[in-house]
Amino acid sequence: MRPCGPPCVATFTDDVLKELLMRRAALLGLLFALPVALVSCAPAAPVEMRDPPYVRLPEPAPPQHTALMTGPAVAASQAVSKASLFPALLPIRKQLIVSTPFPWRYVVLHHSATPNGNASEFDAQHRRKGWDGLGYDFVIGNGHDSGDGEIEVGYRWRGQLQGAHAGNFVYNRYGIGICLVGNFETAAPSARQISATAELLAYLLVKFRIPPQNVTMHRTFRDTACPGKRFPFSQLVAEAQRIAAKAR
Ligand SMILES: [Zn+2]
Repeated sequence: MRPCGPPCVATFTDDVLKELLMRRAALLGLLFALPVALVSCAPAAPVEMRDPPYVRLPEPAPPQHTALMTGPAVAASQAVSKASLFPALLPIRKQLIVSTPFPWRYVVLHHSATPNGNASEFDAQHRRKGWDGLGYDFVIGNGHDSGDGEIEVGYRWRGQLQGAHAGNFVYNRYGIGICLVGNFETAAPSARQISATAELLAYLLVKFRIPPQNVTMHRTFRDTACPGKRFPFSQLVAEAQRIAAKAR
């Protein structure tokens, strides 16, 4: 992980300006793309067809966006870039910002159910299954094959592509997939994993105006133990809300 000195602060300022411009583009994209996507729920890009078949379940609750990207949202976006509130995001800040953000509505939390691993290893595993590659958007390491609390960004996030992590069309299409390395059936995530996940969640909640109740665990809608009974879901969402409130 590259140490971050004063130049990063300047870059952050640039990124804030870039985000403001992108928010205008995102608003237009949201207005035109979302109704189309909701009417025709079919993945269009051929590359997505190689991912596992998705189980189509009833549409979850509609997004509870109370307002579009107006003044307060822009202000929140500006504030969320405060480096002091998001130290775990500093190393990935440039990868977080995408040129054409997708109108994400959910966040789905997973564990790897393995004692170790990282984005590269999971990418290889998923390719061996015949998928396009890493099914998650983000992987948060536990100190074995990547740093403890290190956030790795997947190609699906960088390209704002449909995920392959939920086994459900809606949550794959509209849900951001985050996988914490570890098996939380037997042990809880590390403190660094929890704080990094909370920061990432807070950023995503503010940037995409995702309501906290739309953060969910894999097992909430699928027959799976993921992310394990020791996963501190309520603590994570509460911490994310606390950070998001400061950012606002
Ligand atoms: Zn899962």
